[in-house]
Amino acid sequence: MQYWQADIETLAPQELAALQLQKLCRSVEQAGRSEFYRKRFAQHSLSAESIRSLDDIRRFPFTCKDELRQEYPWGLLTVGHDEIVRMHCTSGTTGNPVAILHSRRDLHNWANLVARSLFAAGTRPGEVFQNSSGYGLFTGGLGFQSGAELLGCLSIPAGSGNSQRQIKLMRDFGTTCLHAVPSYLGRLHNVFIENGLQPAKDTKLKRLFIGAEPHSEETRQRIQELYGCKAYNSFGMTEMNGPGVAFECECQNGMHLWEDAYLMEIIDPDTLEPLPDGELGELVLTTLDREAMPIIRYRTRDLTRIIAETCPCGRSARRIDRITGRSDDMFIIKGCNVFPIQIERILMRISEVGSDYLITLDSNDDGDFMLVQAELKHEAFSDEFPKLEQLRKRIAAAMRDEIQVTPRVQLVNPDTLPKSEGKAVRVKDLRKN
Ligand code: ADP
Ligand code: ZN
Repeated sequence: MQYWQADIETLAPQELAALQLQKLCRSVEQAGRSEFYRKRFAQHSLSAESIRSLDDIRRFPFTCKDELRQEYPWGLLTVGHDEIVRMHCTSGTTGNPVAILHSRRDLHNWANLVARSLFAAGTRPGEVFQNSSGYGLFTGGLGFQSGAELLGCLSIPAGSGNSQRQIKLMRDFGTTCLHAVPSYLGRLHNVFIENGLQPAKDTKLKRLFIGAEPHSEETRQRIQELYGCKAYNSFGMTEMNGPGVAFECECQNGMHLWEDAYLMEIIDPDTLEPLPDGELGELVLTTLDREAMPIIRYRTRDLTRIIAETCPCGRSARRIDRITGRSDDMFIIKGCNVFPIQIERILMRISEVGSDYLITLDSNDDGDFMLVQAELKHEAFSDEFPKLEQLRKRIAAAMRDEIQVTPRVQLVNPDTLPKSEGKAVRVKDLRKN
């Protein structure tokens, strides 16, 4: 068995498009049952009947995060309250939460996409899947849990933090797959070492699933070296269910976005015009299967590009490249546009640097400045001062070459930067607006 759902995963492109068109009409019709879309479609004289081809989606207005917030909690609901069985919230990284409500069928479809994703990355029934996501409202907990159970894995809801217990569970139950945010895996590895253990030798880990926050290829490589196994990129967001929107297959060359469940577009975030395959822009998604809360043309603010070439694995869902960041992650310092991931890429190429860093933007009488604090690895920390000073200068120069601004660089003791339970906070902007 090579696929979780061979019939859907290997559809010919025209068949996939036909399925999408049929589902799009149904989804728009369903969306029109909510108060929010009923008004909106009426304003623009839009209806499911007016859709003849997939391109007709462009006549529909976008849906933005702020609108979802304003419609909290029921504005986008299309079914009776007796038909909804669960709600989830965004982690609120950028403001008030958005609540998404699911019917029983929605939960099943979501679990199926997660199972399909885990399967595509090589997981098979009978394996042991451990989840270090926070449970509760965050979708990385129950979302992965349900998918792994549907696939047929022993699923361990370890929850976030408590590294000693994570390691004990992994060893006692023979965990083969671990889901974690990438920023946690460096810390967890330190705890393995403190216990005189090595993940590659002292656990049965075969693969890691890493996602929920932007990370570079350099970070993935590092994680794979630390754990001696493959790490697969996992992408999703609460508004689109949660995990299981796009996932890397065993080829590890971009994430298959499950196009039978989501219609994707890439737009120029400034002009809002569609961009051709291969060009970097904002990902816009429409749910094709959701019953209780369909969302039409959701502006994710995540920046990526479509990889149009077919994947050697034979799945027809097109892939997206790793997320560069959110359009609102970008900051401007001394007139230069910078994404945190550009800084990360440089740091992760330097072997003396550990996995945690913090970018602080501040101002003094001389104007704005950027401070990059990077934790050293334990072994590098003992190096003498001149060596560290040289390293510091090397990092600052590499950053200047990349972003055209020379930051102040500070190398700090291992484990001294603030840690967060879920997603890592990489940028602190203390400048007065
Ligand atoms: P919030 O928007 O409040 O953080 P979510 O938990 O729904 O709530 O987070 C979804 C967001 O997380 C995505 O829109 C994206 O910005 C980020 N994200 C999720 N997976 C990845 C990934 N694999 N790579 C980069 N960013 C990711
Ligand atoms: Zn593939």
